[in-house]
Amino acid sequence: MVEKKTATEEKSLSRRDFLRNTGILAGGAVLGTGLLAGCSDSAAKAEAPPPVEQTWDYEADVVIIGLGGAGASAAIEAHDAGAKVLVIEKQAEKTHYPNTRMSGGVWHNPDPMGDRGARVEYIKAMMSGENIPWKNEGEQEHVSAEMAEMFADGIMDVENFLMTQAPDLDPAGMAPGGEASFPMFPKFKEAKYGKTINTRYKDFQNADDNVPAYEQPKEQKSAGEAFYWALVEEGIKGKRPEIQILFSTPAKRLIQGENGEIRGVIATQGDKEIKVKAKRAVVLSSGGYEYNLPMRRAFLEGPGVTGWGFYGSPDNTGDGIEMAILVGAGLVKVAKAASRIESAFPHGKNWDEKGLKMGSNTSVTSSKNSVIVDNFGKRYTDEHIITDSTRPYRYQFYKEAVHYDLLTMNYPRIPSWIIFDETRRTSSPVVGTSGSTVGYGFLPWSKDNLDAIQRGWILKADTLEELAAKIKADPENRELIDTQTLIDNVKKFNEYCAVGVDKDFGRTPATMGPVEKPPFYAMKLYPGGPNTKGGIDANAKREALDWNAKPIPRLYTAGEISSVFKFTYQAGGNLTECIVCGRVAGKNAAGQTPWS
Ligand SMILES: Cc1cc2nc3c(=O)[nH]c(=O)nc-3n(C[C@H](O)[C@H](O)[C@H](O)COP(=O)(O)OP(=O)(O)OC[C@H]3O[C@@H](n4cnc5c(N)ncnc54)[C@H](O)[C@@H]3O)c2cc1C
Repeated sequence: MVEKKTATEEKSLSRRDFLRNTGILAGGAVLGTGLLAGCSDSAAKAEAPPPVEQTWDYEADVVIIGLGGAGASAAIEAHDAGAKVLVIEKQAEKTHYPNTRMSGGVWHNPDPMGDRGARVEYIKAMMSGENIPWKNEGEQEHVSAEMAEMFADGIMDVENFLMTQAPDLDPAGMAPGGEASFPMFPKFKEAKYGKTINTRYKDFQNADDNVPAYEQPKEQKSAGEAFYWALVEEGIKGKRPEIQILFSTPAKRLIQGENGEIRGVIATQGDKEIKVKAKRAVVLSSGGYEYNLPMRRAFLEGPGVTGWGFYGSPDNTGDGIEMAILVGAGLVKVAKAASRIESAFPHGKNWDEKGLKMGSNTSVTSSKNSVIVDNFGKRYTDEHIITDSTRPYRYQFYKEAVHYDLLTMNYPRIPSWIIFDETRRTSSPVVGTSGSTVGYGFLPWSKDNLDAIQRGWILKADTLEELAAKIKADPENRELIDTQTLIDNVKKFNEYCAVGVDKDFGRTPATMGPVEKPPFYAMKLYPGGPNTKGGIDANAKREALDWNAKPIPRLYTAGEISSVFKFTYQAGGNLTECIVCGRVAGKNAAGQTPWS
């Protein structure tokens, strides 16, 4: 018998269907229009509910979208739970450089002697900040307690999980790199959350600096290259060859059944569209939105499109976030990033077409013979806090960089300028050359910094007056620089160097050295860093949630696309969550009953 619907039911159903089909539910309406206008064709076309496809090109129990650390961990776990796993990856196999691979390879490894309850509290503070005395950003009551519990247990098995994939990793070499970051958080002491580990294979110390990380032999790999190798090359390709990987296959759209459940994925291979059936579930792990222009415009503070730079994979274009929005997923804290300030350049293979700069890891920001000034030529901070690993907030420095000056209605620190002298120029590359965008061949950089000067990325002048004139001629300075301000600030800094005390900002004396030997140089710095963090709302089971915090059936998510670190960031958090949350997502996806 066909049930007849009342007029009210008809009305409410059609409204709900409309919202679902356009991917706009509740608060989503605010984001929807702007986002979709700038998104890909597939998004714009998704006005009608995609039919549940009858013919499929591929089929698996669990389909994973994106093969970084999160996707790899999910694939391994789903496979080990007995599922047939298929991974869809946008990049080509030969140049598969996800953020995971380009990264520093650092992850968290708390002391097992720490108290579990304390660990939960400390983790909860990092994730949501709800339990810190000043209740800073606590707005995730619907998931924060269960997420902290899940993470507090999962994190204790990260080392074992990695070592199981890659027994040649060197636990001795994987030395603890630092203390827990936030002594002001609850239960800091009892949690003993102190260890941060750098991933390395046994012979990492003998790696040849002149060989790119991705070409080094396994035994000499370290950092993100080692982390990636352990999971993808050893854990998946080596130990679990049954896991099928489709490289050069960007996923475009999720296929949703009548009840909102996810049944598969539409992807492309060249010009061909393929349909992939997911009998149990789909895991979205396709990374952040660092290189998605409309998302940056929608989410990031400051002049988001041109005023930021990220130094990871240009293929992190928020595709998974877009796909999730279109099936009704809610978003949370999307504007969050693990960021500070770094150099970025309008140069590259594809990304400059989108008007986006490519960042580079600029650890030189607190080195001797250099200072940082704003667009007016004025120092505004202790430069050392930007990179100092002992300072908890270094990955929140971007909040300082997007400072808005009400009186001049300006973002005076975008760009900022690092001013340095010849001593600094000749001492080492001013950007990191081993990992990140330079190390993986996305940005060229000579060790003497000379090619960047020739390219105009670094301005050079014999005097500070002349340097100020060159800065002024740069359109991004908006003619704000005041020559005398720049000269005075550099002079004052040099005086502080002479007495070893920075009276304005208290910069660590060991990092101070005068800017005095001509020629002088200036390079632009922008808010930015490794990655975005906020994204798809998800619970401790890593089920993607809709705007009412209700799970979207058969859709799971992990990694940067739905980072658990919504409040603050301790270095190593992202790779840790790749394993912890990726494993949870993979296991739960495999645990679903097949729909056919
Ligand atoms: C230079 C650098 C240093 C860092 N250092 C550290 C560190 O030391 N410790 C730490 O914890 N974190 C670090 N991070 C951050 C960390 O690397 C990332 O947050 C983490 O690796 C993200 O993992 P992921 O699996 O979520 O995404 P990724 O590793 O970015 O993988 C996402 C994958 O999805 C693919 N993809 C994208 N769109 C699609 C699509 N439509 N269809 C199919 N596939 C798609 C991408 O090609 C990519 O392979 C660093 C990041 C960078 C860039």
